[in-house]
Amino acid sequence: MTEPSIRPLPEQLINQIAAGEVVERPASVVKELTENALDAAAQRILIDVERGGKQRIRVQDDGHGIAVEQLALALRRHATSKIYNLDELESVSSLGFRGEALPSIAAVSRLTIASRQADSEHGHQVRAGDAPDDDQMQPKPVAHPVGTTVTVDDLFFNTPGRRKFLRTDRTELQHIQEAVRRLALSRFDVGFTLNHQGRCLLNLAPTQDESDRQQRLADLLGSEFATHSANVELEGAGMRLSGWLGLPTAARRQGDLQYFFVNGRLVRDRTAAHGIRQAYKDVLYRDHYPAYVLYLEIDPTQVDVNVHPMKHEVRFRDGRTVHGFLAQRIGEALAMLGPAGANSSPS
Ligand code: ADP
Ligand code: MG
Repeated sequence: MTEPSIRPLPEQLINQIAAGEVVERPASVVKELTENALDAAAQRILIDVERGGKQRIRVQDDGHGIAVEQLALALRRHATSKIYNLDELESVSSLGFRGEALPSIAAVSRLTIASRQADSEHGHQVRAGDAPDDDQMQPKPVAHPVGTTVTVDDLFFNTPGRRKFLRTDRTELQHIQEAVRRLALSRFDVGFTLNHQGRCLLNLAPTQDESDRQQRLADLLGSEFATHSANVELEGAGMRLSGWLGLPTAARRQGDLQYFFVNGRLVRDRTAAHGIRQAYKDVLYRDHYPAYVLYLEIDPTQVDVNVHPMKHEVRFRDGRTVHGFLAQRIGEALAMLGPAGANSSPS
């Protein structure tokens, strides 16, 4: 018997393998497409889903759009407009930069992009898989407002192994709602609408002032958290922390209301989570978890976001300083708020 020979994988299979890392379920598609809309400076994003996103996900934005001659390129693997070199990777501020989402999603669904830039009279559309090669794709003219619409039908139709892992429409929709909640918490200046089967589940206008922001917080996380939290702004060690600290009265039995954003990106980071927990140590019962929505702004060169394809994780260059800053400053802020908390007026 001869040894099997080494051969390069076909492009479609490479994309399907990559999709395994980026596209776990419909909610991941919603996240990637919405992040692209945010990177394109959209002011309003409309998300329509059918059957928990299994049948259809459509994300429409009013961002700067894609030039017609670049539409096919957007679907090409490792093609991105967001970074061009290593320096830019090390200080990246866009949500995307790997050029992987669209080709990965396209490899496991039926994907269409329609887009129009401000200087075009109409839009153009391409459908992934229409041509054997991206270069042969011919965009078709379509009516479209300035911005981009990506439609993803029949997710995992050609990867039955993945399709099997999808849950009920209801569960998949809940994951989508959580994804949209995180995105809407990351950008108060952007409007978000989520419809399921034509029914509006969320409709958030861009916020103008503090009372709008407080209202969005309540719409997304409930009035309980909105009233039992204190808005903070803390600075130090070259970092800035803003957001809402849940008061001890908002503490929970589970760590399910903990949102931590680093330079606008929601991340799970053990160092940061530990620092925050430490700050709460003196004001919470042992078996309770703090609730918070916090935004850390830090010099982008001090944090590596290129740790994981889904970018849920970051690596701080100086984790100890971040930990110390969070533990110390949040601890001080909580001590100042006292047991009654800030939102209850002093009597
Ligand atoms: P990445 O976001 O990492 O660059 P993607 O595969 O998600 O990779 O997208 C590829 C490229 O397509 C982007 O770099 C961007 O230029 C373009 N693009 C994707 N979605 C949009 C959008 N909604 N508006 C404008 N351009 C977009
Ligand atoms: Mg992207």
